[in-house]
Amino acid sequence: MTRDSNRIETKLIRAGEPDPRVMGAVAMPIFQSAMFETFGGEGYHDIRYIRLNNTPNHIVLSNKLAAIENGQSALVTSSGMAAISTGLLAALSSGDHLMVQNTLYGGTHDLVTKDLPELGIEHDFIDPADPSSWESKLRTSTKVFYVESISNPLMGVGDLRSVVEFARAHNLVSMIDNTFTSPINFRPPEAGFDISFHSCTKYLNGHSDLVAGAVIGSERWVHKIKHKLDHLGGTLDPHACYLLHRGLKTLALRVKQQNKSALKIATFLDSHRAVREVNYPGLESHGDHARAKDLFDGYGGMLSFELEGSLADVDRFMRTVEIPLIAPSLGGVETLLTRPAVTSHAGMSDKDRQKSGISDTLVRMSVGIESTDDIIEDLGRALVP
Ligand SMILES: *Cc1c(COP(=O)(O)O)cnc(C)c1O
Repeated sequence: MTRDSNRIETKLIRAGEPDPRVMGAVAMPIFQSAMFETFGGEGYHDIRYIRLNNTPNHIVLSNKLAAIENGQSALVTSSGMAAISTGLLAALSSGDHLMVQNTLYGGTHDLVTKDLPELGIEHDFIDPADPSSWESKLRTSTKVFYVESISNPLMGVGDLRSVVEFARAHNLVSMIDNTFTSPINFRPPEAGFDISFHSCTKYLNGHSDLVAGAVIGSERWVHKIKHKLDHLGGTLDPHACYLLHRGLKTLALRVKQQNKSALKIATFLDSHRAVREVNYPGLESHGDHARAKDLFDGYGGMLSFELEGSLADVDRFMRTVEIPLIAPSLGGVETLLTRPAVTSHAGMSDKDRQKSGISDTLVRMSVGIESTDDIIEDLGRALVP
């Protein structure tokens, strides 16, 4: 593919599309065919078969994903966890060690602390905001440095520039889960990361109607991960490819609106007497605001806040709001609320949760694309004055 110098809004529509279009179709058709004719002379990974991630729907989508983050290459996978687990297994084998940030997405946390040790792969947690503490965790067997662009649920932003520098200096593969920021706000390959992962279930698809993942990065690493994916089988089916492709086209419109709306909502909550604390990297009061401002083009649609009062007050608030749905996940067009203590972080002990700053009254919000004023009025009515 020739290098696409267009801006991201244009790439979302144009990049990777077949030229000429298939039978002139403006929307990429679904190739609902498990296999394609071949004429010999090719290796296993070149056989054209859905699980080998090389049907026309996979190829177009991969090229678009690579283009929007300015990566050399990309892959789609059957879920965000399929992307992350396959990526880690492609880079690590028995006897290896990885450094991971101390606040990980729940599925990744369990993979690293439960599944990888069974395969002889060890880890150490690090504070992504404190580069001076990293050297002491480094071993001769360390192969991977893994972080997330915005942490859940306190919206922390690590020193991502130092992560890339440290990984380069010590010959580690730098990997980042870029789900929370989306390529509109941050493009890890531009910052020098080897691999960027996404749960496309979230912002990239944006319509809360599929599960998918992506790996974007250097040609060499994406190639290695593709071979692992071909074997492990976490492939995305062509119909889901089509839906993701369709959802991607409006990513820029959605995320820019979510950036704007979340900042207004965070500012409103921050000034409300019934709210003790708001965690949003776009607020100057957030501890990582300066880093977020330096790294990102927007602060995203995710925020969390702590209410004054008891658990019963939070419960009443969650029951009273009318626009937000009470549901897990994030990144879609609908505004969603969750209470991390009983959802994403329910597996942690009370003590560990408290130590991580996740109180029982913390509420997480994924801002959708409804009217910002309607959301603020709704929240205002539900908050005890
Ligand atoms: C949801 C999520 C994942 C996992 O993605 P799935 O598509 O559910 O497998 C990984 N990382 C982050 C940050 C997520 O929010």
